[in-house]
Amino acid sequence: MIRITELRLPLHHAENALRPAVLARLKLVDADITDIHVFRRGYDARKRSDIQLVYTLDCTLADGVNEAAVLARFAGDHQVRATPDTGYHFLAQVGEHTGPRPVVVGFGPCGLFAALILAQIGLRPIVLERGKAVRERTQDTWSLWREQKLHPESNVQFGEGGAGTFSDGKLWSQITDPRHLTRKVLQEFVKAGAPEEILYVSKPHIGTFRLVSMIIKMRADIEALGGEIRFQQKMTDLLIEDGADGKHVRGVQLESGEQIDTTHVVIALGHSARDTFQMLQARGVHMEAKPFSIGYRIEHPQSLIDAARFGANAGNPILGAADYKLVHHARNGRSVYSFCMCPGGTVVAATSEENRVVTNGMSQYSRNERNANAGIVVGLTPEDYRQDGKRDGSPVNPLDGMAFQRQWESRAYELGGGGYLAPGSLVGDFIKRQVSKAFGDVVPSYKPGVTLTDLQQKSNGSLPAYCLEAIREALPAFARQIRGFDRPDAVLTGVETRTSSPLRINRGRDYQSLNVRGLFPAGEGAGYAGGIMSAGVDGIEVAEALAADLLGLPDAP
Ligand code: FAD
Repeated sequence: MIRITELRLPLHHAENALRPAVLARLKLVDADITDIHVFRRGYDARKRSDIQLVYTLDCTLADGVNEAAVLARFAGDHQVRATPDTGYHFLAQVGEHTGPRPVVVGFGPCGLFAALILAQIGLRPIVLERGKAVRERTQDTWSLWREQKLHPESNVQFGEGGAGTFSDGKLWSQITDPRHLTRKVLQEFVKAGAPEEILYVSKPHIGTFRLVSMIIKMRADIEALGGEIRFQQKMTDLLIEDGADGKHVRGVQLESGEQIDTTHVVIALGHSARDTFQMLQARGVHMEAKPFSIGYRIEHPQSLIDAARFGANAGNPILGAADYKLVHHARNGRSVYSFCMCPGGTVVAATSEENRVVTNGMSQYSRNERNANAGIVVGLTPEDYRQDGKRDGSPVNPLDGMAFQRQWESRAYELGGGGYLAPGSLVGDFIKRQVSKAFGDVVPSYKPGVTLTDLQQKSNGSLPAYCLEAIREALPAFARQIRGFDRPDAVLTGVETRTSSPLRINRGRDYQSLNVRGLFPAGEGAGYAGGIMSAGVDGIEVAEALAADLLGLPDAP
């Protein structure tokens, strides 16, 4: 097969325009090609009046047409190549594994894919998840949004499916992917009930409701392969022993007191497992403080974003609800950027701790809610949040970022007035440093509700002063790219603190902890992923490395 990339056609091209375009591109005649498969379809909307669809196509040549000769004619043209093998190849598949079973802690996208691959290899993993199965978890999560009652072990962050379950379900990532592992993730999702289109649209998403049923199906697949998934089973201790070659894992302890003996543990904890991070630090597991970002969620009418990005083509079903990605380098040296943009979605209460407020965003597959939302966040370094007051360049305590997040999440709760209401401001007032009195046309979607308040109090604001200053400067700058972005009645709701893990649990090239053999730090919580897709891919890679070690195979691919 021959792959053509970057084949461009106008947005409104006729359905049958693809074939002639391919024939012209390859300088072939109709009889030379038997099949054209759309591998990917994206769009280029930089020029609103001339939006282009951008295709990656796989073409099967007719018998008798010499593929090598066709490719030779395009040597040097990087947009015409042999179609690569994007299939997934197991490094091993064992019949009956009688050795120690690996344990996977956490059943978010990273733990899910680690467990699935381990199960497909034949290693019958045991999965421990502190939260509940997804259906019960959904009820608990809604109880915060509807009844202001938080379940600290069953919420947006904790439970089957992990943090990505109540989300926009965006499934793209900017990771480099030479082994096409993102394809494996997408194919497993389609097998579990995701729409086929996620395999070819350039920015696939599935929304919340579909994710829930897909996760149940994937759980059943793991169980059918001999895996075991245990809910409401928090790992509270990691059992480590000293051997001749250093420390290594000998098991895990659960909250119930039960111990599971094992030599191989994946920790796919997510960024909110603060008590578990604390335990791992106390056990001497190597970790370090890392940069992350904090800010607010912003809401605009989705129609404003659609019009700004697509002009007269707003509403075109191929384009869907428009998204955006914005960055501004502020005069005070801070970078402000949009984070986890959710077209046609809602802002959600995403705390996992009592008396704290955290925002995030989600949507349904249809993305047809009235508002667009995104985090508007400012990048921080460990020096910004170190708690010991030192300025001597010494290493920052890895748990300091967590303490800093807690400080602003508690402050947000206070400013909101309690009951998990979030503090907010209209954008116009925020820029003018005024306190908002009433909402305008943009009705905030955060439940249980938004309290308009002074986010910028002089001695006790909702974020550090340098963040407030950078965001005030960024909002009008963003309006130069998205017209109306600084519209006065757009709403800011705070605070967005869980953008990524505040620490990294360091691992080596073999994916094992730097100082504990048999411990495989993985996914977002360990600082190796950011988003559903990258967490899933990391889960696959970690599972492969674990299997290679457990089975005594040469290094994983
Ligand atoms: P997590 O998904 O956080 O999973 C970790 C799991 O470990 C949790 O289920 C937790 O309960 C469990 N756990 C923690 N400690 C223990 C313990 N001691 N014992 C047992 N279990 C434990 N990303 C996208 O790519 N697209 C989006 O549209 C998107 N939207 C989002 C919307 C929201 C509201 C949120 C909160 C996040 C969103 N994200 C999105 C981010 C994405 O969800 C995360 O990047 C991803 O889930 C990280 O996967 P993970 O498996 O590494 O960790």
